[in-house]
Amino acid sequence: MFFDAVVVFAKKDSMDCLFCRIAKREIPADIVFENERVLAFRDIQPQAPVHLLIIPKRHIAGLNDITKADDQLLGEMLNVARELAKKEGVSTDGYRVAINCGANAGQAVAHLHYHVLGGRKFTWPPG
Ligand code: 5GP
Ligand code: ZN
Repeated sequence: MFFDAVVVFAKKDSMDCLFCRIAKREIPADIVFENERVLAFRDIQPQAPVHLLIIPKRHIAGLNDITKADDQLLGEMLNVARELAKKEGVSTDGYRVAINCGANAGQAVAHLHYHVLGGRKFTWPPG
């Protein structure tokens, strides 16, 4: 009974989730990479000439929700970031990989994503 409730909750979560819907092709996106576990697409409101989002296909709400079991997946996503930065031609000049977690960081979509930003100079510390 408890586990049924958890499964129903998880299903509802991902059914309503924008990035799960993009992963299921229910909402269109400019997809630049895909394998069984990971999807990458262009941000709809780019903050730099290159602005990609890299997501796990499995619904993970955010950085607070990862576990040790996700180590390999998260490493794979970083390697996808590295490969895509090279493909997009921003490796040499530099790029930023960012994860917003929670309200103070401005996380707007509750499905874990790495931002990959490049093609211009960024300031530090961030605003
Ligand atoms: P967050 O603020 O959660 O770290 O980042 C969410 C990102 O998702 C934002 O940069 C926003 O522009 C992007 N985004 C929101 N809705 C859509 C959408 O429907 N399609 C795409 N490709 N990106 C989206
Ligand atoms: Zn999701």
